[in-house]
Amino acid sequence: MTKANPTPAYQGSMLMIVAPSGAGKSSLVDALLQADAGLTLSLSTTTRSPRSGEVDGKNYRFVSKEEFLREKEQGHFLEWAEVHGHFYGTSKPWIESQMQAGSDVVLEIDWQGAQQIRKLIPSAQWIFIFPPSIEALEERLRKRGQDDEATIARRLAAAHVELLHAHEADYIVVNDSFDQALVDLKHILAASRLRSGPAMARNPALLRRLGV
Ligand code: 5GP
Repeated sequence: MTKANPTPAYQGSMLMIVAPSGAGKSSLVDALLQADAGLTLSLSTTTRSPRSGEVDGKNYRFVSKEEFLREKEQGHFLEWAEVHGHFYGTSKPWIESQMQAGSDVVLEIDWQGAQQIRKLIPSAQWIFIFPPSIEALEERLRKRGQDDEATIARRLAAAHVELLHAHEADYIVVNDSFDQALVDLKHILAASRLRSGPAMARNPALLRRLGV
């Protein structure tokens, strides 16, 4: 008896990029998005205030705590977490529409969010970005010049907790050389697209010709 091809619900790739603050995650994700027109970034909602240069609707959807909690009650978030004393969440309707379209998406979230999404979407790939050292992490946080000392201390403590979850990730990328880290991310994306579900979905005519 031949087994019918299972039809996975989601044919695209979902990359979850997790890293402690200051590991250079956002710059890497920006470069990956620039390099790959087929990849779209999930716009998170947060209750934290915009840093200088951050734009509402581009970096985040900035909302009040009341608004966030209201949306949470309405089931607007696929996942949400409290990070550094602020709420962050991923839009459920947006992710669902991308999944229906079979699009490739990248999420910049923390380990709590990655744990939640992995349960809901098992094909999501969890990538953990390592800083080359704790000193480098601290230096990047200071150089950013956007956080006060208390915030930096809080972020360093949180970095330690975040790092303890690295073993749960599918991939580790060390951001020692930015260029190499970007190449690593491109390889992970390429491998993710070659998984049998997405690859078969992209080649229906070939499958018909091959009789599978
Ligand atoms: P930041 O305030 O530095 O932009 O982000 C703080 C942390 O929140 C980072 O680890 C970032 O990845 C995480 N984060 C950003 N958006 C989301 C989200 O939608 N969900 C979750 N769980 N974490 C997020």
